[in-house]
This record gives sequence, C-alpha cells and structure tokens, in this order.
Amino acid sequence: MKVSIDQAACQGDCICSIICPDVFLLDETGIAWPAEDGVPLSPGGPTSFATVPPQFEDDVQDAASQCPTGAIRVRL
Ligand code: SF4
Repeated sequence: MKVSIDQAACQGDCICSIICPDVFLLDETGIAWPAEDGVPLSPGGPTSFATVPPQFEDDVQDAASQCPTGAIRVRL
C-alpha cells in the first residue's frame, strides 16, 4: 500500500497523525506529510506516494476515511 497527502487540501486538524503517528507527520505549521522510516516524504503532494509498512495499513485506511477534506489518497 502507498499513501499520499495533498498538502494544499490539508486543514491541519491532526486526525491522521492521531490515528497513525508513524505514517502521518505534522510540520511546524500543522500540515500533514506521509513519512517513510520517520522521514517526511519530499516533495509531497497528491501524486507523491510513500510506502506504508503492512502493520500500519489498517490505520492508514482509517485515517484516509476520516480525513475531512479528502486530502489523503491510498493506492493498493
Ligand atoms: S486528517 Fe486530513 S486534513 Fe487532517 S491533518 Fe490529516 S491530511 Fe490534514
């Protein structure tokens, strides 16, 4: 599974990072970024996908479904 976040759509409410802090990191402005091995994916954006470790796949799906702006995209 892979995941991306559209930072332009993120409203910084922390929902994703509360559900799965190992995959969703917030920057200093509160905007979310997907992470690989604890490092935020660069450059980010809706077409930049990070690989999700298998143990976090359910939480990532949950976060994507709860994101109020639809900023999180999951690719299987
Ligand atoms: S749940 Fe969505 S809007 Fe909220 S911080 Fe995460 S990506 Fe941004």
